[in-house]
Amino acid sequence: MARVYNSRKRVLVTGGAGFLGSHLCDRLIKDGHEVLCADNFFTGDKSNITHLMKHDRFELIRHDVTFPLFVEVDEIYNLACPASPVHYQHDPIQTTKTSVHGAINMLGLAKRLGVKILQASTSEVYGDPSVHPQTEDYWGHVNPIGPRSCYDEGKRCAETLFFDYHRQLGLSIKVARIFNTYGPRMHPADGRVVSNFIVQALSGQPLTLYGAGTQTRSFCYVDDLIDGLVRLMNSPEDVTGPINLGNPVEFSMAELASLVIELTGSTSEVTHVPLPADDPRQRNPDIRLAREILGWEPAVPLDDGLKRTIDDFKGRT
Ligand code: NAD
Ligand code: UDP
Repeated sequence: MARVYNSRKRVLVTGGAGFLGSHLCDRLIKDGHEVLCADNFFTGDKSNITHLMKHDRFELIRHDVTFPLFVEVDEIYNLACPASPVHYQHDPIQTTKTSVHGAINMLGLAKRLGVKILQASTSEVYGDPSVHPQTEDYWGHVNPIGPRSCYDEGKRCAETLFFDYHRQLGLSIKVARIFNTYGPRMHPADGRVVSNFIVQALSGQPLTLYGAGTQTRSFCYVDDLIDGLVRLMNSPEDVTGPINLGNPVEFSMAELASLVIELTGSTSEVTHVPLPADDPRQRNPDIRLAREILGWEPAVPLDDGLKRTIDDFKGRT
């Protein structure tokens, strides 16, 4: 099989010091490219990219994407945006600005340079879905004024901007709808369910199961997800997406809690706490498009991925 890339490129990764961004930087460096990582460190951390700092093909700039950026690159991955509900609800106005102004600024950069740009969109564009599993042609069921709206509607507006730049200006775009992804380098305090449960299980604290724990999610291991993003970026020009990237194996949060307790060998119990507002009841990607167009599907099952993630958390505590 041909290599994903045939020649070296200069690639901008916004949000490159975050969880997914840092793994994407690793992958692009491994593939032989030059990487320019732009991050304002709102939720990202230099420790995620320390190992890259001395690499001669890696460069870091502190930059907030709500302001214009003037650099010269061949490709742009736009990942800058807090992803955990705790973080994106901390400053919801800034979250919307990051998605919307950030998209406008990065699209403007791509337009000036005439380069391809990939948007890290999200399954949250489907909201609390009434179609299950979610297909890309489903328009979603989203509350425009709730606590999750800054993120959901910000990402929806970013998708609109991407498609308008494509239709109106002929810009080459790629839109990935990413479903819940987990793995090493998740921030221990970011409040997402996998990191919360692992931290709680390893420290003998009760696992905080929101609501009855019957709500479902489908968890994709980070290496699989990054491979999907790179394949999408390198797909033929007429492939714009949106395209779902996620693991179609669905678990309830109660099942996830039991699995984390089992894999950590923890004596922790489960405690029920109130379900947050607008928490989607179910989520599962239909990945037929990704299979057909990108030849992509996740390879790492949840228990394997959780073991690797648990080892990473153990190494950090
Ligand atoms: P993360 O919070 O670890 O990373 C986000 C990064 O963006 C951080 O490094 C943060 O400092 C940076 N950032 C935030 N606001 C910024 C700004 N205004 N300017 C510059 N940098 C800024 O989250 P993640 O899980 O790595 O998510 C990365 C992207 O993928 C996000 O766009 C998110 O919406 C999307 N996504 C992630 C998931 C998931 O399960 N991890 C699911 C769907 C979509
Ligand atoms: N959740 C939970 N306990 C936690 C954190 C989250 O039961 O400590 C639940 C949450 O209510 C949601 C699911 O786990 O139903 C996934 O939450 P997360 O914040 O990871 O992502 P999102 O809701 O954005 O999919």
